This record gives sequence, structure tokens and C-alpha cells, in this order.
Amino acid sequence: MGDRVRLELELEQLSQQIRYHEAAYRAGVPEITDGAFDDLVDRYQELAEELGIEPSERLDVQPGQDHTAGFETVEHRVPMLSLEKLSPNRRDSGGEPMALSDQLSAWFRRRRKELEVEELPIIVEPKVDGISVSLLYADGVLRRAVTRGDGRKGDVITKQVNQLGTVPTKLKRAGKGEMEIRGELYWPLTEFARFNATLEKPLINPRNGCAGMMKRKDPEGLEKSGIRAFFYQVAWDDGAKLPPTQRETLQWLADRGAEVYLSEVFQTVSEEDALQYCEDYQARRGALNYDIDGMVIKIDDLGLYARLGATGHHPHWGIAYKFPPERKPTQLLDIEVSVGKSGKLTPVAILEPVFVSGTTVSRASLHNFVELERKDVRVGDIVLVEKAGEIIPQVVEVDTSKRKRGAKRFVAPDACPTCGTEVVSEEIFVYCPNPTCPDQVRERLRHFASRGAMDIDGMGEVLVDQVVDKIGVRSPDELFRLDVDALAALDRMGQKSAERVKAGLEAAKERGLGRVLNGLAIRHVGETMAEDLAAYFKTADALLDFAARYVAEDKDAVETVAPAKSAERGAIEGLARKSADSIFHELDSPAVRKVFSGLADVGVSLSVRAADVREVADVAGKTFVLTGTLPTLKRTEATRRIKVAGGKVSGSVSKKTDYVVAGDDPGSKHDKAQSLGVEIIDEAALLDLLGDAE
Ligand code: AMP
Ligand code: ZN
Repeated sequence: MGDRVRLELELEQLSQQIRYHEAAYRAGVPEITDGAFDDLVDRYQELAEELGIEPSERLDVQPGQDHTAGFETVEHRVPMLSLEKLSPNRRDSGGEPMALSDQLSAWFRRRRKELEVEELPIIVEPKVDGISVSLLYADGVLRRAVTRGDGRKGDVITKQVNQLGTVPTKLKRAGKGEMEIRGELYWPLTEFARFNATLEKPLINPRNGCAGMMKRKDPEGLEKSGIRAFFYQVAWDDGAKLPPTQRETLQWLADRGAEVYLSEVFQTVSEEDALQYCEDYQARRGALNYDIDGMVIKIDDLGLYARLGATGHHPHWGIAYKFPPERKPTQLLDIEVSVGKSGKLTPVAILEPVFVSGTTVSRASLHNFVELERKDVRVGDIVLVEKAGEIIPQVVEVDTSKRKRGAKRFVAPDACPTCGTEVVSEEIFVYCPNPTCPDQVRERLRHFASRGAMDIDGMGEVLVDQVVDKIGVRSPDELFRLDVDALAALDRMGQKSAERVKAGLEAAKERGLGRVLNGLAIRHVGETMAEDLAAYFKTADALLDFAARYVAEDKDAVETVAPAKSAERGAIEGLARKSADSIFHELDSPAVRKVFSGLADVGVSLSVRAADVREVADVAGKTFVLTGTLPTLKRTEATRRIKVAGGKVSGSVSKKTDYVVAGDDPGSKHDKAQSLGVEIIDEAALLDLLGDAE
């Protein structure tokens, strides 16, 4: 497999993982830490950059959005940022992998240069894997507790924190005035195990458990959990006399009755020693009564922090060291082939259950048959398993020294294991081309009902499986025809849940064309493409007419979305010729047309939602390029607002660009715009153009 193909594959896997974890975040049941999520996003951006994928074609990710419905939100006076990471994936400007020690030296070199000093005091602390919390104390009394949220604003969890009984509601020796203290809520492992043993359905791990508990609307009983908090920072204060170093701040906090991890910190002036401490700490990790996911290396002089500053993403006073993921050997019992929603066949490793990074793993994706062949994984082999991004299990390699004689190479199937249809290959993937294949039907319906697509309240995977198996539902429109009685008769349902599902179905009818298109699981149509198609064509009729013309090779139609001159851009940003062929052929197929007419019959809205387009005269039809960090808008938000207003966002500057929106540290795009004479505007001017359009 070529390098590029491998990277593209990794990018696809990353985007699936990011989508999955975003949905989990939004649902209030995150499975990985904010940091692990940011790592996935960082790696995605890094790869996308490397592969030359334009920003407008990348995933729209808004990391760390953990707002939970029903919680009051407040803005943080000082944002709660992420931390920069030492990363095993980082490469230098020549493309060579960079050792962690070199990354750390480079980081310190920059800091010393900024500060014009020869040496910096360093403190190393454990990076506690819990939930960040910001605590406002007034005259020493706890007034408010807020989660990190998206870093700018978080959810108010004062009642919940107060109920714990472990976080001081009053600080000792407190003076007058207000101050905000930052810390990490965490669930001690022994307390977690004790609490978990009392539950019918055990929690996956202490971190998720803690996140879920702190977002309980009714705080009653939280004091029985044993959840506690470490304090480690004073974010701002009203002139309290604070000590000059981080180390002394921890002591100062301890003196006020807060819990701190003073016994675990290490002070030095040597970068090598700091890194060594991080590496050695792994051995001590298992003896702690709380989870940590790495270490934080900080400059131990708070007086320098204001001068060091921050980016919108992380402060410059510290950098995180992440522990390498745990790897465990286990036996591969079997290789199963699963059929996905678009017919893709994926080999799955069935493993002798093994405990890795906090959960028991018994299945792992083997991604595709090319990858499988490259790794030469065979049934019966001893394989090494690790969790990528701390959650998705992967087979990393085979221990061929332990291979039994006679173990056979795995051969990719030439027929679908479910329906027996002969498979087709497209690039490195293998598909079952039969749209009525039972596994595909089931996966498509699951996807259609899911949160990212039609978001049908109450219609989870278990229920979808039941309506497929017991009622015989085969296509999305049939979901809307289900009646309450039929639903109520299913396992673990009842009149009330059936009515809720029915109401969920009614509500889903109004989600609009973009969500419908995403829900149909058409190959190459993800969330962004679905919304872009909807915004451009406005109605399903217009889209299907166009698809028919495209398939009939109507020149105008083809030129509209896939101009022959490669320098020109089609009407839909990021739609390449090959995907266009595939998308419009599939849309024009009898199977998809039937689904659309079925959906129209049951009253599902097949037009773009009014809220999704609010054309603004100065923006509609114009092409924008974003560069640098904008002062207030995240790039994803700026992109969204431009698109909603009818504009386009492109990744590179050309003569066709109408505006380059430049923020801080603009890149080469700024220079190119100048040389081409393209108008350069700032965020304020962009906001003016957008008017008050949301
Ligand atoms: P990340 O989310 O991985 O970018 O890391 C930033 C988060 O790490 C902060 O929001 C804190 O909640 C958390 N954290 C845990 N331990 C520490 C520590 N010792 N110092 C600073 N931040 C910490
Ligand atoms: Zn099949």
C-alpha cells in the first residue's frame, strides 16, 4: 500500500472516530477525555495538511462542546484552554519524525528567547484525567462551579459540586474579595470500584463516570460517590497576595484546605530531567488511586506567565507529556467480515478478551483487506492490541514468532457474507453492491435514525434492529409509517415509549433536506457534503433532476459541478469529479428515487430548512479564503456563517477569490492575495458584510 493511501485511510478512520466522539460529547456521555479528543483533531488537521486537503473539505470540528441541555452556561472570565502536547507524530520541517526530547528543547528554546533568559525553573505535575472545573470563591465561600465547556463558556454545576462534600465550600484563612480557582474533579479508583459494584449497569471508567455524575440534574446522593477534586491554579483574583511560583501556589492552596498533589511534583532546571521524570513516572502510575493520562511540564515562575501569553488553543506556560498507549498481547480467535451501511466489507478481529487501557476488548477493526494483507494477520496468531485515541481498539502487529505451523493467510471474500452477491472493488475497499442486502438495510436504517442524521428521538440501534427483524421495515419511509400499537408490542417497549418514538418520528420530518441526504448513507456524502448539496439545490426535486441530467452527460450539468478545466471550481466546494460521478449515479438510481418518493408520501420535508440558508446580498455567490487566527470567530464558525449567507469558502487564493479574511499570523495566502490584488479584510469587516445574519 502506498504511503498516500495509508495516510488517506488513517484520515478516514480519524474522521469516523471524531464524528463518533462528537456525538457522544453532545449526548453528555463522552467516552474519552477532552485531551484525547483534541489529539484526534490535532492528528486529523496534521494529516489533512500533509495530504493537501483544503480547509473547506475538512471535517467541521468543534472540540470540547460539552454543553448539556438544561444547564445554565456562563462565560469564563479567563478561558479554560487546552494544553500543547509533545506528540510522537510530530515531524520537523524536513518531514523527519521528531524525538520528544527535541520537541521539548525546541519548546524551551522558544520560551527562553521570548523571555530573554538563559534558564527557566521547571515543575512537572501529573496530568489528572478528570473533569476540569472552575470554582469562584467570594470572601472564601464557594459561590459558583463551572465546567470547561467549550473553553469560553461552561455549564454551571454549583449544586452538584456542593453536594459532593469533598470540595471545600469555605476556604481557610481566606481574605476578602473574589478569586477563581481551577482544578480537576476526579473519581478515586477505590471509590469508583465501590460505587460501580452497586450499579446494575456498570460505568465504563472513572472519567466518564465522573462526567456523567457531575451532570446529574438532581444532585441528591452525589455525596455517596466519593468524587473529589485536585486544585492546581488560581485563574484570577481581586488582589489576594499570591505566591510567585506554581510550587508555592500548590502549598498555598493546601493551606486553605484544598486537595493538591504536592507529593507528586518534581522541580528542576533541566529539560532532560523533566522528560526523564515523565518517562519514569509511568512505573508509579499504577500505584496511584486516580487515573492520569500524562504529565504537565510547567514553567515555575508565575510572574512570567503574562509575558508568555497564549494562543486561542493553549497557554505558553506549559506543555503536556502523554503516556504512550498501553499494548497487550492476546490471541486472534477469528476474523469476521461485517457489512457497512454503504455495503463496504470490513474485516473484524475477534479476540480472546483482554483488558487494555481501562476496558475489556474482544473485537477490533482490521480496517480493510489491503491492510489485513499487509499485516498478514492470521487466525490463531498472537497479536498486540492497543487503543487509538484511548478508545478504539486496534491490532497493531502480529507476533510471528508465536505463529502455529499451518496457520493460513486470510483470503478476502469474493461474495458478500450476508447475501452472497459477488463483491466489487473500489480502490482499496471491497463492497457488496446489493442495495437490498439485509446487513446494509439494517446499517442504513440505524444511520438514518442516528443523532448525526435524522436524530429520531427514542429510535436507538436496538429498536431499529427490532423493527427490521420483527416488523419487516426495509426503507426509511416505512419507519414513518409505523404505528404506536406495533411499536408498543416490541420487546422492552410499552405504550409510553411507543408514543415517544412516534413523536420523535414526527419531529424528525422537519429536519430538512441536508439531514435527509446525510441519512441516506450515499457513498461520498457525509454531513458537510449533504448540507452543501442541500444548500445549493434547495429541494430534492431539483437535486434529482440534476442527477438525471448529470448521468445523461448533459454538458451544462457536468460543467456545473465538475468543470473540465481543473483550475476552475465547481458550484459545490470540495466536490471532486470522481465523487460527483458516484454521488449523482447513486442519486439517480431507482432505489434512491423510490426512497425519496416514499419519504415525500409520508410528509418528510425534502427542502432545505429556511434556517440553513439566509442569503446575505454582500456575501452570496462570493468566494472567501480564511487565513490566520481570527480574534473571536473560530474558523469552523466563520465558515458556517459564510455558507449560510450563501457564500463559498475556499482553501486557496486565486484570481476568483473575492475576499481574503486575515486574522493573526496570516500565512502565505495573505501574501498571495496581495500579489493578486485580492481584497484583504479583517474579522470586523467580515462581520459587517454578514450583517446580523446568524
Ligand atoms: P487537554 O484537555 O489535554 O488539552 O489538557 C488540558 C486540561 O488538562 C486542563 O483543562 C485541565 O483540566 C487538565 N489538567 C489535568 N491535570 C493538570 C495539571 N496538572 N495542570 C494543568 N492542567 C491539568
Ligand atoms: Zn450483501
